[in-house]
Amino acid sequence: MKLRVAQQVKDTEAEGPGVRYAVWVQGCTIRCAGCCNPEMFVHGKGGREVDVDELARDILSTPGIEGLSMLGGEPFEQAEAVAALGRLVKAGGKTVMVYSGYTLAELEGQVRSGVPGVQALLDVADLLVDGRYDATRPEKVRRWVGSTNQVLHFFSDAYRPDDPRFWSANTVELRLEGGQLTINGWPAPADFLRRLFRQSA
Ligand code: SF4
Repeated sequence: MKLRVAQQVKDTEAEGPGVRYAVWVQGCTIRCAGCCNPEMFVHGKGGREVDVDELARDILSTPGIEGLSMLGGEPFEQAEAVAALGRLVKAGGKTVMVYSGYTLAELEGQVRSGVPGVQALLDVADLLVDGRYDATRPEKVRRWVGSTNQVLHFFSDAYRPDDPRFWSANTVELRLEGGQLTINGWPAPADFLRRLFRQSA
């Protein structure tokens, strides 16, 4: 099974609890104003197609990670492939966190409408951050959540809402690898830094 991936970071602490392997998928039809990843909007173009089994092997062979975070782009717009990846990673003993621009209620509506893979992806997620990113309401209290309207759902016993890690300051990471600059983490400052680097490039 193939998944179109826009970006990968093998060891981030800015996209969920612990050190995580983060995968940004390509394609999002939601298009929130102020989204910091507009280059990931278009489906079928940009990024690269990867084999889900190969990607899972790479994730599970990465030392020191607690789990996988799936971001976008919109993971639920490639739900079957993302769910398949999540199942392989879970089977290898890692946790799965998913960020979606859809609310959980919208996703449950998609399940009722028979959209393939949506229930499977909900089933494999330990954590879901749901809802549109609202750039006018930046989240300053909850870590790993972009805006105050978004809800962090705990779907398994792997994590608890009273874990202090969920209540510390958000962070942004910059890394330069092979001449490629990657900026990820808290959306508002990450977006500011991206614009700054684009202007000075
Ligand atoms: S759902 Fe996510 S990727 Fe899509 S536009 Fe909103 S913030 Fe950007």
